[in-house]
Amino acid sequence: MAKFTRRRFVKGAAILPLAAKHMALQQVTGASDRFDIVVAGAGHNSLITAAYLAKAGYRCLVLEGRPKIGGGVKTAELTLRGFHDDCCSTAHVFIQDNPLIKNDELKLGDYGLEYIDPDPIFHVPFPDGSYLTQWRDLDRTCAEFAKFSKKDAAAYRKMLADLDAIRPLIVAGSFTPIGFGKPLNDQLAQVPHGKLWQRRLAMSAWDVIHDTFEDDHCRTFMLYMSHLAAEPPDAPVTGRLAYGAPRQQHSGRPLPKGGSGALTEALGRFIEAHGGTIVVNKWVKNLIVEGGKCVGVECSDGSAYQASKAVVSTIHIKHLVDMAPREMWGEDFLYGVETWQAENAMFATHYATSEPPIYKVDGGTLSPVESGVLASPYRALRFGFDDTRGVVNLEEPPLQVICCSIADPTRAPAGMHTLKVLGWQPYMLKEGPEHWDKIKYDVSDANLKYLRRFAPNLTDDKILARFVESPLDLERMNPHFWHGSAHGGAQSAAQTGPLRPMAGWAQHRMPIAGLYQTGATTHPGGSVTGGPGRNAATVMLKDFGTSIEEVVGKKA
Ligand SMILES: Cc1cc2nc3c(=O)[nH]c(=O)nc-3n(C[C@H](O)[C@H](O)[C@H](O)COP(=O)(O)OP(=O)(O)OC[C@H]3O[C@@H](n4cnc5c(N)ncnc54)[C@H](O)[C@@H]3O)c2cc1C
Repeated sequence: MAKFTRRRFVKGAAILPLAAKHMALQQVTGASDRFDIVVAGAGHNSLITAAYLAKAGYRCLVLEGRPKIGGGVKTAELTLRGFHDDCCSTAHVFIQDNPLIKNDELKLGDYGLEYIDPDPIFHVPFPDGSYLTQWRDLDRTCAEFAKFSKKDAAAYRKMLADLDAIRPLIVAGSFTPIGFGKPLNDQLAQVPHGKLWQRRLAMSAWDVIHDTFEDDHCRTFMLYMSHLAAEPPDAPVTGRLAYGAPRQQHSGRPLPKGGSGALTEALGRFIEAHGGTIVVNKWVKNLIVEGGKCVGVECSDGSAYQASKAVVSTIHIKHLVDMAPREMWGEDFLYGVETWQAENAMFATHYATSEPPIYKVDGGTLSPVESGVLASPYRALRFGFDDTRGVVNLEEPPLQVICCSIADPTRAPAGMHTLKVLGWQPYMLKEGPEHWDKIKYDVSDANLKYLRRFAPNLTDDKILARFVESPLDLERMNPHFWHGSAHGGAQSAAQTGPLRPMAGWAQHRMPIAGLYQTGATTHPGGSVTGGPGRNAATVMLKDFGTSIEEVVGKKA
């Protein structure tokens, strides 16, 4: 039986309304008003940066192009009234290790954030009728591996123990700005078995999983959990992704009550409660540069806003470099942007349904919040190949299936469900990305047809409405998803750590003085980690002569 636990950080104060939520700026403030910080774009990362800066006492103005804040962490009625769909992200896994949440630094519970911890964590049914379910209980999960191979069950347990031994180092690496501590490799060299980890992290996820597990069902499950970050599993330096399932064995895959957007709404309330202003429907078009320093932004409606201390951007670097004269960026940075590679894009269909997916399991059925289908380990190896060729591959399409309303009834009317079905397809089709407008409904139909092989109850009469987002639609919705990149761009060897977005500029300080960059194009990259957001705040607060520890009340 599936079960759920709820977690609220702090009991207490009444939740404040998001006051300025969607007012036009003119109602809130005149264009002549001055701010210390102007934040361009309101994804969860830039909101986190703004929240720490606002807590430090800086007057922040956040400008968001869309009618609603949140970017990839947003919930809206996409299908029918009363059905609250997560437009993009649902699972808030990695952010659980961020001191923001782990140490409750901003007490976001007081601003409406509450997490639900579904159990099982993840369920993968296989084409031969067997399945592997990950439960919060380790022994129960190992028993699932043991159905296929006792050796693999032991291997999974060992992977978790190995990871636990160095987990603090790996986690700290994500939530420390580049250059603020020793590089992970140097730290690993000094701890027991660290050298072994140096090798593992440089390997591909496929090599780690193939060598560690003997059974193809177990390999498929492990590869599935490694691919959720949208990197081809056989690419070098993806070894860390092989630890996707062990990593979430402790954290689970929590989801905010009410929708993924509850995080960004809580951050918005926090910023406003600390004197900040948030304005939507404001597309930033240009940076204002005076005397070589970025001192504000201009918006597409002609308005302009000055920042006395700094501008923080979460605009995609491919667009950012067009917002100031090219010579201001320098050749090296421009080269980094020109050579920046997109990732394997996502394809989403949102449904309003009268039933959740129902999977057959021993002795009954299971309806988990999250499940995924992947026919074999070898199918996962086609991701990179199909992407390179620009070919939509609908043969046994790997899918992620998310039904939040099972654990969170606030998401849909009584007895109804929100269902999100995700696939991975190339953005850049041979025929050009515009071809997506012609084929997206066929691709969505093919995904559903394949899903019905595993959850046959999802017949037409159970589906009340649907909303399809092709990779091109994702980019249209959020320009930060450049070329459909849900994580800002590939997390490849060339675009990670000190190379993200470009060697020399990984510390969030951009080539133009006074301009800082956060978001998925900076370390540690995409997903709901809040890492780029908190790391950017750490760097900025240091530059302003204070520290994040001082701001959250913990002297360093
Ligand atoms: C379908 C889908 C499912 C996903 N599922 C998950 C999941 O379950 N778990 C997970 O961890 N991750 C998931 N992700 C990835 C995750 O959503 C993103 O990596 C993450 O939201 C990136 O956050 P960010 O703060 O860096 O930027 P974004 O969320 O991309 O925010 C950038 C913001 O800036 C705004 N903006 C851009 N340009 C301008 C401009 N010129 N002027 C003004 N505003 C501008 C945008 O409108 C946007 O609001 C998913 C992504 C997709 C697409």
